[in-house]
Amino acid sequence: MNKKDLVKKTRAYALKNAIVYSGKAQQGAVISALFNEGLKKQDVKKYIKKISEIVKKINSLSLDEQKKEFGKLEGEVSKRKVREGLPELPNAKKGKVVMRIAPSPSGAFHIGHAMTACISFNFVMKYGGKFYVRIEDTNPDNIYTKAYKLIEQDSKWLFNNKAKIVIQSGRMEIYYKYAKKFIEKKAAYICTCSGDKFREYSKEKKNCPCRKLSVKENLERWENMISKKGYKPGEAVLRFKSNMKHKNPAMRDFPLARINLTPHPLQKKKYRVWPLMNLAVAVDDIEMKMTHIIRAKEHRDNSERQKMIYNVLKKKFPWTGFLGRWKFKDMELSSRKFTEGIKEGKYSGWGDERLPTIQALKKKGYKPSAFWKFSENIGLSESDKTIDKDEYFKLLNSFNKN
Ligand SMILES: [Zn+2]
Repeated sequence: MNKKDLVKKTRAYALKNAIVYSGKAQQGAVISALFNEGLKKQDVKKYIKKISEIVKKINSLSLDEQKKEFGKLEGEVSKRKVREGLPELPNAKKGKVVMRIAPSPSGAFHIGHAMTACISFNFVMKYGGKFYVRIEDTNPDNIYTKAYKLIEQDSKWLFNNKAKIVIQSGRMEIYYKYAKKFIEKKAAYICTCSGDKFREYSKEKKNCPCRKLSVKENLERWENMISKKGYKPGEAVLRFKSNMKHKNPAMRDFPLARINLTPHPLQKKKYRVWPLMNLAVAVDDIEMKMTHIIRAKEHRDNSERQKMIYNVLKKKFPWTGFLGRWKFKDMELSSRKFTEGIKEGKYSGWGDERLPTIQALKKKGYKPSAFWKFSENIGLSESDKTIDKDEYFKLLNSFNKN
């Protein structure tokens, strides 16, 4: 903050404080407001005389005069607290922060991806460590093949070549190894009950009969699941042994892996058993030694499930922060919709300038640092926000200039 700004802000906050406290501003309150505005602690000494002078002068005015003056300076007072730089990340050690983002292969990055992804990226850059872009493609039914290349290109640009890209479907043997390990530790079992039957057990808080099978029987069932002549899709699922009386029904013996015969764009027909999100995510986070996770708050239940998986292996669960949802009043951020539009010829491609994609914005002259700064400004907040397109781009433009 330069001196001119400081004088203006000091006057504004002193007036505001004075009006609240019958005409007498408190110097301490004014200084803490200035910290929120970006005043550095080490600069207080340099400016303290000036600040005192201003506060004194304002306190000598009448309340009416103060109100009149404040009317002119009101714009200097932030409506919300402004933080300078990133907040501290709990338990972060210099050079040892490992974080990830986990996009699904549904399209190129749009501004919604950039907003959340850059929060984790910023922290890794701040402390030093590793940053992974992990493409979650273990559901063969839900893959847009071009997304692999698109995500790779966008990641290179947005994260300045500093992200390591990992594709989950290339790690199947690791998930299989863990699946067997969980069976051996009696933390998982293979359930051959129908979906309806299992839901009934869950509702009645009863164990399904498969739960008490021996490790040997479960390992046989596992072989049967992965073998080509074995169970058919829907006939068997690998389940985590949590607790069938868990107060949250969604936590009761949740599934870890299932059979899906849809050919996978990269693995073709090599695998028939696919890990579900909670297995693949927990295993990767363990293997990649994740230290911190920042994710959308709708993943709170998944976080709980993954914590249970960590506990089986007596591993310490990463520090986890949740983010609120950002909604645009006048714009829909949906990779699926954009893909459809491109297929129908409504858009020329992912770089079509009407799309809020990273590719399109890159063409318009936006730099990666604009997105980093935008995310720095958001920080870690669990509250939902609604903004409109104009507001978003006004902010992004201001960060693109600096
Ligand atoms: Zn069962």
